[in-house]
Amino acid sequence: MAQLRFEALKKLNERPKVHVDATTPHISQFFGENVFGMEQMRATLAPAVFKKVSHAIKNHEKIDEATADAVASAAKSWAIAKGATHFTHWFQPMTGGTAEKHDSFFDALSGIEKFKGSELVQQEPDASSFPSGGIRSTFEARGYTAWDPTSPMFLYGKTLSIPTIFVSYTGETLDTKSPLLKALKAVDIAATKVCQLFDKDIQHVVASLGPEQEYFAVDKALFNARPDLVMAGRTVFGHAPARGQQLEDHYFGTIPGRVYDFMRDFEIECWKLGIPVRTRHNEVAPSQFEVAPLFEEVNVANDHNQLMMDVISRVGDKHNLKILFHEKPFAGLNGSGKHNNWSLITDTGVNLYAPSSSARDNLLFLTFFVTTIKAVYEHADLLRASIATAGNDFRLGANEAPPAIVSVFIGSQMTAVLDELETNGNIKIEKGDNMYMKLGIDQIPEIILDATDRNRTSPFAFTGNKFEFRAVGGSDNCATPMAVLNLIVAEQLTQLFETVSKEIDKGEEKRLAIVNVLRKYIKESKAIRFEGDGYSDEWVKEAGKRGLSNIKNMPRAIEAYVSKKSLTLFEKHEVMSHKEAEARNEIKLESYIKRVQIEARVIGDLAMNHIIPTAIAYQNKLINNANGLKGLGIDNTAVTQTIKEISGHIETIKVGVREMIEERKRLNKVTDTHKRAIGYCDDVKEKYFEKIRDAVDKLELLVDDEDWPLVKYRELLFLR
Ligand code: ADP
Ligand code: MG
Repeated sequence: MAQLRFEALKKLNERPKVHVDATTPHISQFFGENVFGMEQMRATLAPAVFKKVSHAIKNHEKIDEATADAVASAAKSWAIAKGATHFTHWFQPMTGGTAEKHDSFFDALSGIEKFKGSELVQQEPDASSFPSGGIRSTFEARGYTAWDPTSPMFLYGKTLSIPTIFVSYTGETLDTKSPLLKALKAVDIAATKVCQLFDKDIQHVVASLGPEQEYFAVDKALFNARPDLVMAGRTVFGHAPARGQQLEDHYFGTIPGRVYDFMRDFEIECWKLGIPVRTRHNEVAPSQFEVAPLFEEVNVANDHNQLMMDVISRVGDKHNLKILFHEKPFAGLNGSGKHNNWSLITDTGVNLYAPSSSARDNLLFLTFFVTTIKAVYEHADLLRASIATAGNDFRLGANEAPPAIVSVFIGSQMTAVLDELETNGNIKIEKGDNMYMKLGIDQIPEIILDATDRNRTSPFAFTGNKFEFRAVGGSDNCATPMAVLNLIVAEQLTQLFETVSKEIDKGEEKRLAIVNVLRKYIKESKAIRFEGDGYSDEWVKEAGKRGLSNIKNMPRAIEAYVSKKSLTLFEKHEVMSHKEAEARNEIKLESYIKRVQIEARVIGDLAMNHIIPTAIAYQNKLINNANGLKGLGIDNTAVTQTIKEISGHIETIKVGVREMIEERKRLNKVTDTHKRAIGYCDDVKEKYFEKIRDAVDKLELLVDDEDWPLVKYRELLFLR
């Protein structure tokens, strides 16, 4: 095993032979060349057909068969001209990641390439091995995928890929995209109504997302020599290197040459696919990096994020790099998140979270701003549930990531504005008064943020013209958190609209009616606002006093999904049925249990088969040495001390692994999935993982480097 480590280290310096084209044309010349989107449809479809398609997309309506046939035919010609042989429905099952099943255009019977509208619209992948959380066994064994025309088709390799949703035959959705699309529709409807209180020209509101993606890049040979990385995506053992991130020299530092080549390569692939990647930089931890795209409509942005992760992994492979999206691949170093920058933008081009120089527009801005804070306050637990995954449990609250407590940061300037609005609450507005001035909302600075006002520790922060939901995990699919965020905002906007409408009906002046609701919301949601250090212990105490939840692990966090309040909310806005919500939780719990199980096994195997034999072999060397010293009459207490220490750690590991196996056996008999997941969390993960790791990591410091079987952190983490 130690041999494996040294073989891998030898390979580290063998640079991959990847041709990086130094003479890439301007990005504008090839951006989106592999996309069949609106522009391509406009160019290839008859004007009347194109009009139908774009109308349906905008209004969340169905596309009729004749139109689908026309689109299919145009897409086929476009794809085949670019060398495509196959098409696939591309979807996002609950397992995470994406799924696809390719079919050839070529029809051997007729001898020609074919692609019908019906094949574009619907396909039957064999769903039997996708998780269904019990829906399938009780109801219907098969499912189908259905075209999502709001996200463009794209050519990936030689395959025309069609973004789709995944639905069971009984109609339950079994993917992450479906609830997102429904939540986006809900927020469009609710936000448009509120906007029309201000401007009747606004017909639609679109949610936008710019997900900043963090990841680690490690050498492929070294990765393969770490069974834990291969099996679990994270290291279960490993002593912190002497130099971690304490020098703060990696963040925004020079990108290592090897990684730079890889970045350029994957960016080119992304641009061809119309993914607007824009920013690249080193992150805080060694070997950690970030890529951020320009924001897009949420559904497209999320498809692009999913696709980008795939592109990054494939291109990394060519460069002999393994890309880790896991939330916490290395203990003691920053984990990886996916900051979800989010806002709502009207079809007239107004970003509803951007303060403006006009007082009237600022009331519109404040309406959305305050309502969003209130929504987060009301549904903090659901928002927490939306980012709950096994991996994120290692990251949240781990002193360098947002805590598991949901709070909102808005900055000192916006705090002052809200305070003023709240305390000016009793001011009487007379006819002819400048209401905005009286309320102190006439001069919200247009640019809110200065450099000092950036709180990096908040899970949900206002950053000038958008909110940034930072608690999303690096490997997660943004669809779930985005569905929840847009849904809760839709609900709060609906409530605001109803209250305001009632007041107007009673004869209240419209703007005053709105302001009154905002004041109420500001007062009610104060507890969720926090401007201090979210990583501090004081905040944990303070949040407790305020009555905010601090739900530390996934099986408990996702209970909020099936609370009465959430189920009612999902159903009211037609985002999910009770059955779907329950099935989804079941799937998530099952997958959580499996992940903990796998990690427990990896820990057990590595500890028993690799670490302990190595420690014993080294201990034997020491025993020989001690005996030798004794024969020479030289004091050997230092050596015997080490021998004893090694024995102690071996004992801890053995006992821990044995007990952990017993716990798993016991838990596997627990039939209730939720209880089993809680058991795996408390009685397997919490009780043993750290304990065993601690002993192994201590052995790593004692045992001769020459003998140690696992690639060490310092070897994994410093790419040249
Ligand atoms: P940061 O300082 O956090 O890096 P940036 O301005 O670079 O902030 O933006 C980070 C991400 O936020 C990018 O993906 C960007 O496109 C996105 N973003 C900017 N404005 C909006 C918006 N109105 N809605 C959604 N995302 C946005
Ligand atoms: Mg950011």
